[in-house]
Amino acid sequence: MSESSDRVSWGSRTDTGRVRAINQDSVHAQPELFVVADGMGGHQGGEVASAVAVSAMTSEGTPPPSNLDELVARVHRANAAVLERAEQEEELAGMGTTLCALAVLEADWRDGLHLAMVNVGDSRIYRFADGRLEQVSADHSLVAELVRDGHLTSDEALVHPQRNIVTRALGIVPDVDVDAWEVSARRGERFLLCSDGLVNEVTDAQIAATFRRLDDPAEVVDELVRLAHEGGSRDNVTVVVVQVNAGDAGPAAAIPGSADARSDAAAAAAVTAAGTSTAAGADAAALSRGGVGLREGVDPEPAIDSGLGYEGDDATQDRRVRRVGRMRAAITVAVIAFVVAAGLVIIGLYARNNYFVSFDEDQIVIYQGRPGGVLWFDPTIEVPTPFLRSDLTDALALEIDAIPEFGTLSEAEDYVDDLSGRIESASNAATAGSG
Ligand code: MN
Repeated sequence: MSESSDRVSWGSRTDTGRVRAINQDSVHAQPELFVVADGMGGHQGGEVASAVAVSAMTSEGTPPPSNLDELVARVHRANAAVLERAEQEEELAGMGTTLCALAVLEADWRDGLHLAMVNVGDSRIYRFADGRLEQVSADHSLVAELVRDGHLTSDEALVHPQRNIVTRALGIVPDVDVDAWEVSARRGERFLLCSDGLVNEVTDAQIAATFRRLDDPAEVVDELVRLAHEGGSRDNVTVVVVQVNAGDAGPAAAIPGSADARSDAAAAAAVTAAGTSTAAGADAAALSRGGVGLREGVDPEPAIDSGLGYEGDDATQDRRVRRVGRMRAAITVAVIAFVVAAGLVIIGLYARNNYFVSFDEDQIVIYQGRPGGVLWFDPTIEVPTPFLRSDLTDALALEIDAIPEFGTLSEAEDYVDDLSGRIESASNAATAGSG
């Protein structure tokens, strides 16, 4: 039977298989964190590497990761732990491990349950929703890169003799490149984490059919392991199935990561995984499985993996969906800010790009601005004049009371020049009249 929390239920199993003597896979399944690691390297290296990585991911006493960055930080910690252990014991030198993990974050009524996922290597994460199975992680393997570059079809990859060569793993370089993304999942959706021991023996179609046929996560796990045995089980096999119980089961259109969001996302630029650097771990080494350890002489070209531009890759798309969502929000804010700023500039230009002549107390002055001001753009005194209200005839005072406006300062100054002339002639006329 499956175990369950209020948000998810799950089943998990790791199995040595029918050929290998030891199990180099490690697994962890707890309500908030699920991890699958597939170790490689001779002299117990594989077992140790995967166990060290999983235990570093899940160290007791530490609360589970509460966001994607924390989950990525765990992976870096696991990487450091594997490296450190390999340095301590000479016979473990060169060991490494794949790792994929799913962390349960918060649930919200609109998006459903938020999940954070990470992947390094060729263990896989699949999503089963609406009767469809899709891989949401990108394999860091030689054949996957050849497929991505168009040198190999996916059918050819399935039987390629070097299909077990991984191009990224924990324990190889200090600055490992981690794929990381978030998914919002609705009630009833199921996620499969597995080592390559499953997918080398069981086709995606068989896996999908199993999900369609069986509801209970633990039953799905048992059936998938049984199918791997049936297929020959030449490798260790690890299977975790996590079912989402919390979160609204509302229409798909409302869910980030739904078909609509994805098609938009596909057009967006690729975004690198959160909190990771690119390429540093890339040219490290291609590792071969099954206790062989490091394998030299692999074409370095496909081994270089920038983590960018996995076009059509679901994991990348999910990552893009979240990033695009955030990017869209940021763009919306930026556009609004720009429109507001542009509006203010226009209003400011309108408000300030004008001059008028009026009284300041009794003094005639040239103001810059609009009479009465616009918003908080108040008119300012640009040029005080020596003329007072008492200098003016009633007719001239009425003219100034009407607040004549001008487009430029020099027009306003010309007006004041003219006004001074009229004040003088009125004054002369008055003098002449009285004399
Ligand atoms: Mn394996």
